[in-house]
Amino acid sequence: MIGARCVFRCFRALERFGDRVTGAAGPFFVAFAIALTGTGTIAFFDIIAPSLNYKLISLPLCTLIAVNLHAHYYYVCIIPPGFVEDSPNEEGQSLLWAKRKQIPKREGGGGRVLAATRVGAVGARVTNAEVSKCRKCGRLRPERAHHCRICNRCVLKYDHHCPVRINQCVGLHNERHFVLFLIYLTLACFCVSILGWPFLLESLGITYSLMWPYHVPEVAFAMIYILAVVMFFAVGIMGGFHLRSVSRGETSVEAQDHETYRTRAKSRGETFVNSYDLGKRKNLELFFNIGEGGYPWYTLIIPLRIMPYTDGRYWARQAGLDRHAGVYEGEELTDEDDDGDDDIGVE
Ligand SMILES: [Zn+2]
Ligand SMILES: [Zn+2]
Repeated sequence: MIGARCVFRCFRALERFGDRVTGAAGPFFVAFAIALTGTGTIAFFDIIAPSLNYKLISLPLCTLIAVNLHAHYYYVCIIPPGFVEDSPNEEGQSLLWAKRKQIPKREGGGGRVLAATRVGAVGARVTNAEVSKCRKCGRLRPERAHHCRICNRCVLKYDHHCPVRINQCVGLHNERHFVLFLIYLTLACFCVSILGWPFLLESLGITYSLMWPYHVPEVAFAMIYILAVVMFFAVGIMGGFHLRSVSRGETSVEAQDHETYRTRAKSRGETFVNSYDLGKRKNLELFFNIGEGGYPWYTLIIPLRIMPYTDGRYWARQAGLDRHAGVYEGEELTDEDDDGDDDIGVE
């Protein structure tokens, strides 16, 4: 037993060390990502774009993909995920903010949507979030918030901490930009992979050409091309995974927890039902907030800022369910379970 405790402690120490290293290296990863996407974009418009057919349609389309890619990357890096101790975000008034289809009635100046109007506001039944106390930072937090051990704070609708690409958590306020960034990055890599093929052969000297009349050197283009092909598969799979979770009304953490609940419920002859799951279409509408009371559909292709449908203190739920079915009070997994274990031995 003591041996097992020692092994666990060692693993946890190693894990914490890893967190510190990736946390410290975060800004370098971000700078590297900006350099790569920037070079990729320049290479595309310098080398591939001039050869496109139907320029009147293809050029604006490619420009739109590039603008969305960079804008959503910028947003996901600079918009805080939403920490539980921060006061609820307010909608901005600048040109970067989209206008709502219809503005729900608000309580006098408080910025919170009235409970009675919430149902109409998002076109679904909503319930106030249950509140619990975080054992790590001691703060009260609404359901779906989790403690991030790298930020050392509780994050609303915590999805995951991303040290490599964005150097911060993905949560309630930036998750939409994160998913859109993955989608546009996949699209951009697809375009480079398909349209850049003849130029790869030329840059490698496989096809004959008198000279390389572009600003981006052959070697840089060949590297960007190979990276684009790899990223198309890697980011495409990751984006697909995230979209699947979104369409099921789950975050990445919840997707793992729900698997455990499903197995447990099944062993009891019961069925686990995720009460946040309102059907694929409604889940996607709520996530991108383009449904009833939300924003116009074009916010998916024009990179404007919008508010999520909730401030993280209330959630849309299936009719008739105030909590998930098939999992009982006290059975829910906590951050401690996700981390590995604090509960082994003395605390
Ligand atoms: Zn916490
Ligand atoms: Zn974090």
